Amino acid sequence: MDNILKLEEIEKQVKECVKCALHKTRKNPVAGRGNPNAKVLIIGLGPGYNENLQGKPFVGAAGKFLDELLELAGLKRKEVFITNIMKCYLPKNIAKEDEIKACTPYLERQLEIIRPEVILTLGNVATSFMLGKFGIKVQSIGKIHGQRFKVRNLFLQADIIPMYHPAAALYNAGMKDMLRSDWKKIKNLEI
Ligand code: URA
Ligand code: SF4
Repeated sequence: MDNILKLEEIEKQVKECVKCALHKTRKNPVAGRGNPNAKVLIIGLGPGYNENLQGKPFVGAAGKFLDELLELAGLKRKEVFITNIMKCYLPKNIAKEDEIKACTPYLERQLEIIRPEVILTLGNVATSFMLGKFGIKVQSIGKIHGQRFKVRNLFLQADIIPMYHPAAALYNAGMKDMLRSDWKKIKNLEI
């Protein structure tokens, strides 16, 4: 089965999923979007208000800034795959431990299917999930943003690069510049 069909299967499962309480407040779950054979996979936290309405990742204010960052990195939405740790709307922008546990098997499957070479984790939650999964000591994003962590398992051989979450920089010009500088460096990676 090719990747498109496999990813559609996950989308279907997510649509019907009632594994955690967040299914009660979602309108449209957001499984992910982009190239089924992407070399670069981007992981945020979870759908916000606009994403919940549209069923697509990063379509609100943070998404607009993400588009600018993608361009600085020489990447297009069409060539990357964008998803989140959580697939249903987070009304308070917080995911509880048990909700993360319930939802991340979908992300694990997406990783196995897409097998990206570079994984950009946006913010602390995505970063600690991905580094934790490979037994790497998790430090705060303020310390490790922009660094590359080489990981491998049965399915995956990739560089994880933690980044600040674009939403964290929306009202902070200094932080925006830091993000821009981190993303520019990706342009020079051989991907
Ligand atoms: N913030 C996220 O973490 N993910 C989205 O899809 C949108 C905003
Ligand atoms: Fe299922 Fe994830 Fe939605 Fe919870 S957040 S209902 S685990 S898809």
